[in-house]
Amino acid sequence: MKRLYYEGELIPYRGKPLAIRIVPPQGSPFRLATPSEDGLSLLVRVRPGEDIKKHVIFFFTAETEEIIRSSLPQWAKKLGVRPVSASVKLAKSRWGSCSSFGKLFFNSRLSMLSDDVSEYIIVHELCHLKQMNHSKAFWDLVRSALPGCMALRSKLRAEEKDAVL
Ligand SMILES: [Zn+2]
Repeated sequence: MKRLYYEGELIPYRGKPLAIRIVPPQGSPFRLATPSEDGLSLLVRVRPGEDIKKHVIFFFTAETEEIIRSSLPQWAKKLGVRPVSASVKLAKSRWGSCSSFGKLFFNSRLSMLSDDVSEYIIVHELCHLKQMNHSKAFWDLVRSALPGCMALRSKLRAEEKDAVL
């Protein structure tokens, strides 16, 4: 699918669709896209002609950074691993990666997925710090941390079609 960033377009946020609403700028200029209080819309505060896409990408990147900040340290502790760093950037296909130096990367679009799915991606990448492959030993490790990981993998395949920026 291709995202078009029009008024009313549905965009997934933590697994639930929000309708894009373009509203006049007001208040803090820092966060120009925020979910509405009723949780149904993503308010994008732009002047006519301004780049909606840029603000929406900024929003999802910041949300993903927040998910990583709140969830990754506990899982790292549980698994007994210590990543060198964990950073977030927008990518076309990969949800995450782990370098041989122990640096983790997560896609800005992670916060478009359901929380249990993004958690699975975090656990998956952390397990690569112990097993740099997709061997049986790797999957045993993921399964011992998250027994429902195979169902979450299928859920990821279903959700990722719409999780596009
Ligand atoms: Zn992997």
